[in-house]
Amino acid sequence: MIDATTPDPIISIRDLVVGFDGRNVIDGFSLDVRRGEVLGVIGPSGSGKSVTLRTVIGLLPKRSGTIEVLGREYSALPRKQRVEIERRWGVLFQQGALFSALTVLENVEFPLREHLDMPRKLRRDIARFKIDLVGLPVGAENLYPSELSGGMIKRAALARALSLDPDIVFLDEPTAGLDPIGAARFDELVLSLKDALGLTVYMVTHDLDSLVTVCDRIAALGSGKLLEVGTLAELMNSDDPWLQDYFHGPRA
Ligand code: ADP
Ligand code: MG
Repeated sequence: MIDATTPDPIISIRDLVVGFDGRNVIDGFSLDVRRGEVLGVIGPSGSGKSVTLRTVIGLLPKRSGTIEVLGREYSALPRKQRVEIERRWGVLFQQGALFSALTVLENVEFPLREHLDMPRKLRRDIARFKIDLVGLPVGAENLYPSELSGGMIKRAALARALSLDPDIVFLDEPTAGLDPIGAARFDELVLSLKDALGLTVYMVTHDLDSLVTVCDRIAALGSGKLLEVGTLAELMNSDDPWLQDYFHGPRA
């Protein structure tokens, strides 16, 4: 059994089981996310990376186990306290998911409008600050998602995820669909946000470059179990056949 526990975790997953109908797709693993780290989550397609992420943020029900966020069992909290925790994380889903009928500025303003009561001018100023922070060019704030490149959509979605000053950001394959330069730029952005804002980042990724450049630790999932967790060097030296293939290519 892999020991993935750590002192003072910001997220603590214990014996997590998640299933659909008659099948468990997450089969009882435990994992901690440390405050201030970028944790990369890898694994074959269908291994449960997105399901785990969605369960941690309360979008999917678990069958058993516990998930503590900031020291508290998230799903057991009353609705009002859950909302308080939800405000402390930002999420960037696999599909980017901006509201297509809203401009970039309106998209980034949206969570502020939903969660906080503040004057319109202040809301706009905060949203503009986040748009600038993620490196979108001047003028992009007034564009609609259909007018943006793939890289700009990811940045705008990240600006929205940062709108409420979260402690934790969840990213589900943020560089998928970007060209190598766009992906490298996005990685640099994540790294600079971690350094500048002290963010904890939980990042599902397929991208080996992202693992090398931004991740402090990596967790590998396989068929709903935790195969391995550790540094890049540790995972590269793992005996697990999938990890061997992933890092060193299939053996002849
Ligand atoms: P990935 O590691 O590629 O992100 P997922 O976490 O999306 O994989 O999926 C893990 C498994 O759970 C897959 O077998 C997938 O088909 C199944 N699954 C995911 N979401 C649902 C759902 N809403 N209903 C039924 N099965 C699901
Ligand atoms: Mg996925």
